[in-house]
Amino acid sequence: CGIVGYVGGQSALDVVIAGLKRLEYRGYDSAGVAVLADGGLAAAKKAGKLVNLEKELVSRPLPAGSTGIGHTRWATHGGPTDANAHPHLDNAGRVAVVHNGIIENFAALRAELAERGHALRSETDTEVVAHLLAECHSATGDLAEAMRQVCRRLEGAFTLVAVDADEPDVVVGARRNSPLVVGVGEGEAFLASDVAAFIDHTRSAIELGQDQVVEVRRDAVTVTDFEGAPAEVRAYHVDWDA
Ligand code: GLU
Repeated sequence: CGIVGYVGGQSALDVVIAGLKRLEYRGYDSAGVAVLADGGLAAAKKAGKLVNLEKELVSRPLPAGSTGIGHTRWATHGGPTDANAHPHLDNAGRVAVVHNGIIENFAALRAELAERGHALRSETDTEVVAHLLAECHSATGDLAEAMRQVCRRLEGAFTLVAVDADEPDVVVGARRNSPLVVGVGEGEAFLASDVAAFIDHTRSAIELGQDQVVEVRRDAVTVTDFEGAPAEVRAYHVDWDA
């Protein structure tokens, strides 16, 4: 339902939680975050309101990091439980992904992954993406390229945002039939399903086109189509009052 990603000089957790609060008006049943820190990836997710997640983060704090992603979920596949909340991780716990929309061919992909030895731990359509990204990332060493390869296999509607512990300065996103916007700040960048998530930090935005993948770093935004061909991007100024 609501997606926020961040890379920059601030606490990713603080920026992501504040962004998710900005998206609360859309309605949701669960929330979660993942942060890259100390060479690894740490995640927390809870059914219910954001306050439940915030309580969890007090009792079990995540290490501080400056790259992270977050999600508020409106369940379509699998009930609103902690396990079904996003982010979803691969089995090694190195890749985390959040998703808005529906992966229509998820059942075939789940069966294929199970056959290759992956243990799926949720009932969502989303989790397949984490496992597929991990496979493609270990083959390519490049999260954006892994995202392109995975997107070519997906059917349905999706905004995806992912991080990988092996690329701690990168957040990658993709979209088809579901919105994704980049916020371009000074030495920081945002990915979100809605500009409201980053309006307190920057008003310079880039709207992703259909079937595009974006890689953001603190000072660089790279957009391609699902085949890897560079796409032209036009930044615009968000001038509405949030
Ligand atoms: N289909 C996904 C799920 O049920 C994403 C739902 C959403 O857009 O929040 O987990």
